[in-house]
Amino acid sequence: MDSELRYHSTTGEWVLISPKRGKRPNDFGAPTIKRVISPKRTCPFEEPQKHGNAIPHFWFPEDKPLEKWQLQVLPNKYPAISHRHMQCASSHRDGMYTVTTGVGHHDILLTRDHYKNYRHLSEAQALDVLLAFSKRYKELIADGCMQYVSMFQNFGPNAGASIFHPHYQILALPVVPNTVGRSLYHSHEHWKKHKRCIHCDIIKQELKEKKRIVYEEDGIIAFVPFASKEPYQINIFPKEHLPYFEDSSVYILKHISKALRRVLASVAKKLDDPDYNFYIHTAPIVNKKQYKHYHWHIEVIPKSNVSAGFELGTGVEINPVFPEEATKLLKIR
Ligand SMILES: [Zn+2]
Ligand SMILES: [Zn+2]
Repeated sequence: MDSELRYHSTTGEWVLISPKRGKRPNDFGAPTIKRVISPKRTCPFEEPQKHGNAIPHFWFPEDKPLEKWQLQVLPNKYPAISHRHMQCASSHRDGMYTVTTGVGHHDILLTRDHYKNYRHLSEAQALDVLLAFSKRYKELIADGCMQYVSMFQNFGPNAGASIFHPHYQILALPVVPNTVGRSLYHSHEHWKKHKRCIHCDIIKQELKEKKRIVYEEDGIIAFVPFASKEPYQINIFPKEHLPYFEDSSVYILKHISKALRRVLASVAKKLDDPDYNFYIHTAPIVNKKQYKHYHWHIEVIPKSNVSAGFELGTGVEINPVFPEEATKLLKIR
């Protein structure tokens, strides 16, 4: 197949799909660091509070003492950003430069079992992770100083995880970050022009073409994006137009968590258990009425090629796998 430059309509970026660079599915760009299963006895997340971690913001089950925790959300011991003082972030100019003070929150979400990653959790445990995200998200809205909350998982050293024990992160920022800002801009342009949501229109086309759908059930769709920047990327959407993650019903979260488990299981099975990242994209928490045009979703990125000179110099990622081919491999029947 010939290469194609595909335009990503929600981010405004070009992607170069270049199959000549393609490799076998389990060698699609190589995790370079070997993932090791670290022993439970030295794991700092078995008894986090005994390892100098702070008391959690909350834990599940909520009616049991902390020793009985199955999931806990706690402040990161090594936060990238923190909210030590009472003030919200402030900005100032320094000649040509702009600085905003780094006021935010950086939390870790832990599930109890050392060996059970998201795809191994029971349906109820998998739902609990999203319910805990949602609960903490609402607390961070109440903080009043935050503009955006990023929720994600890094799994494996190539995906940025330094500890083996399954954990997830919640990072609240006093600004709207770059990628989200770009995607908000493009979805707003579409909304102004067509009076419709760009993501709803994409979902409609995916349902009609059926070429990139990996998983579908009532209310949920998972597909390989037409212009995916990474090989084997999968996006999971509620079909219903929902701009705000925090407004999702338990019913929606239950079905999203089921889809996420199945998608991650398919990635592990078909791609030889790669490291991966997944993250939630949702509308910012400030100026809430302003982002009706957005549509929250989860993006799953199996870890592969490292960005090199061409990608860094142009912002154009090279994806060696046609999204339609990736779909054939990952499809859940
Ligand atoms: Zn552990
Ligand atoms: Zn929509």
